[in-house]
Amino acid sequence: MKVLVIGGAGYIGSHVVKALRRAGHEPVVFDNLSSGQRRNLFPGVELIVGDIQKPEEIGAAFARGFDAAVHLAAFKAVGESMAEPEKYSVNNISGTINILNAAVAAGCLRLAFSSTAAVFGSPTYVPIDEAHPTVPENYYGFTKLEIERILGWYDRLKGLKYAALRYFNAAGYDPDGEILGLERNPQNLLPIIMEVASGWRDELQIFGDDYDTRDGTCIRDYVHVSDLADAHVKALERIERTGESLTVNLGSERGISVAEMLAVARRVTGRPIQARAVGRRAGDPAACYATSARARELLGWEATRSDVDTLVSSTWRVYGHYGPDGKEAAR
Ligand code: UDP
Repeated sequence: MKVLVIGGAGYIGSHVVKALRRAGHEPVVFDNLSSGQRRNLFPGVELIVGDIQKPEEIGAAFARGFDAAVHLAAFKAVGESMAEPEKYSVNNISGTINILNAAVAAGCLRLAFSSTAAVFGSPTYVPIDEAHPTVPENYYGFTKLEIERILGWYDRLKGLKYAALRYFNAAGYDPDGEILGLERNPQNLLPIIMEVASGWRDELQIFGDDYDTRDGTCIRDYVHVSDLADAHVKALERIERTGESLTVNLGSERGISVAEMLAVARRVTGRPIQARAVGRRAGDPAACYATSARARELLGWEATRSDVDTLVSSTWRVYGHYGPDGKEAAR
């Protein structure tokens, strides 16, 4: 398939592009490079620089003719989404509407969409399956859930077949070491730990060590980005084969605590990694992890690289490219 990967220069998108190429598909990247980076581009893959907020730009891209698309272009900082919902409305929701209208107009009726475990809100039970209630607790999660609902209507009304892929905590880097772009201002646990290990940041603040978990710190489901990338390929191939839309959770099904992640990072990096428990962060559930039974059944998908050692070592290897004074080179 010829696949338009919208947001293909970003962290997850670059891994999706690589997975598509390895599976014999032809990805073309569409990205405005606001957080995506040229250094993430797979060699030989074309980049169309454009913005999903401009209907004419995304329209012109789709008009070139694609068999399928992957949509990963979104803002994803939870805290920012609560402070500046306007940005998230315009980019995530309106931007997606521009994409869907352009796709439908061009007859591209297969789409894999980056959704998130944030659509569930605080778990009422774990592991979380697809039937778990969807009550997002932040505006970011709301935008993704709203888009899932719009996708459902475009399926009914326009025949657009989609895969809503609800990622749990994406982590890790290409195990071949070919994707080297670091996120600017990372907000997530593992990149922050890596910044402390690299000497770019003084300490990790552990958001709460008094939770009712095995060591008092929060438990999350970290899933390797290359595993996530494979799911996009399998989802598009299934849509092509069956003509059916699907919504699936993508997690490793393993709950890892903050303290466990930190301990593995200290061992793998050989660095002390200063850490200090501070107060809980608002809105953090104690434990959140998936069952991926549906992804296994529908896609034949399994997280195969999501053990903590692989997550940490593949990430540390990328940080090693920048060195102690290399922080700016990464930005
Ligand atoms: N966390 C932490 N310190 C940080 C960043 C994250 O203790 O500087 C914890 C956070 O409370 C959560 C886990 O690490 O339990 C994963 O957080 P992240 O923001 O990466 O993802 P989330 O699960 O919130 O989507």
